[in-house]
Amino acid sequence: MRALLAASLLCGLAGSIATVIPMEASAYVRTRTKASCRPLRWAQTCIFLQPDAELLRTDMASDAVLDAIQGAIRSWNDRLDPSSFLRLYYLPPSESKEVSQTDRLGSIKFRFERWCRPAKDASSSPICFDPAATAVTTVTFLNKPTEPEQDGQIVDTDIDLNAVGYRFVDGSLPFPVGEKRPLVDLWNVLTHELGHVQGLDHTCSLDFGSVPACMTDDKGAAIPSCTELDNMRRTSQSAESAYQAAMYPTSVAGEYSRRIPTSDDLAGVISTHPAFSDPQICKIPSVVSGCQAAAQRAPHQDAAHLWALLSMLCLPFLLMLRLRRKSELRTP
Ligand SMILES: [Zn+2]
Repeated sequence: MRALLAASLLCGLAGSIATVIPMEASAYVRTRTKASCRPLRWAQTCIFLQPDAELLRTDMASDAVLDAIQGAIRSWNDRLDPSSFLRLYYLPPSESKEVSQTDRLGSIKFRFERWCRPAKDASSSPICFDPAATAVTTVTFLNKPTEPEQDGQIVDTDIDLNAVGYRFVDGSLPFPVGEKRPLVDLWNVLTHELGHVQGLDHTCSLDFGSVPACMTDDKGAAIPSCTELDNMRRTSQSAESAYQAAMYPTSVAGEYSRRIPTSDDLAGVISTHPAFSDPQICKIPSVVSGCQAAAQRAPHQDAAHLWALLSMLCLPFLLMLRLRRKSELRTP
């Protein structure tokens, strides 16, 4: 039904071009479990996000970093209210520590020396990310294919930001001179990553990645590659919408046109988290300073059982220095 409503925007155009365009572009795409292909979702109202105390050193003033983080959070919250029950809550930084996939806190961590998560202990290895990725959101969820009520429930998300290969900036201000790293608008990137936090996937597949057959958009259509999507933009309004979405997976240097989620991005969150099904669960994670008492009251499930069933996804956001697209953007 949603497909019909969306297609009506295209009216006669959709019908006339149906024979030359192999697939429609995605309005929004939900991230799914690999085993059962169920859409990921939150079963709680509040998602708590906290930047690490070590921000961007000399790259960007701390106040500007925190403004960008809070700006990205507001850009979702202000538009999801009152249609969705999900709320992103900003917690001010308190200490510098490593991220944890089991603490239920959405950590926001900048990486400087290595674009990796360090080894947890002597027997493990660092987890290094794609050098082309400006940021990676790790979504941890329950992987219980035979228990539909719990399968796909998100329990933790963390955002790593690549300050090794990129210089984060406020793209609306004059660019720093003499910087060798490509420039990235921090707010722009965070709006995208917060889409992943809320269970959204990219509106097109990056060329080097494979998409599971069950991975479709909200209309049930296969996800186009980003190359296909870029080609479809000329003739398809829905392809153009998918390109403009915050969940489009690449950007050009310093770009800040995707700081605000589009109506398609918002629909992707609302569809899975509508206001009328608010679970009204809002517990501050126990690891947050001063909140230990709240945590002790929250052994909702058997912890060992819960964490044994976790699965993990990493979703990168890339910066593509594509001059062709730059020139397109300059076209009035
Ligand atoms: Zn992404």
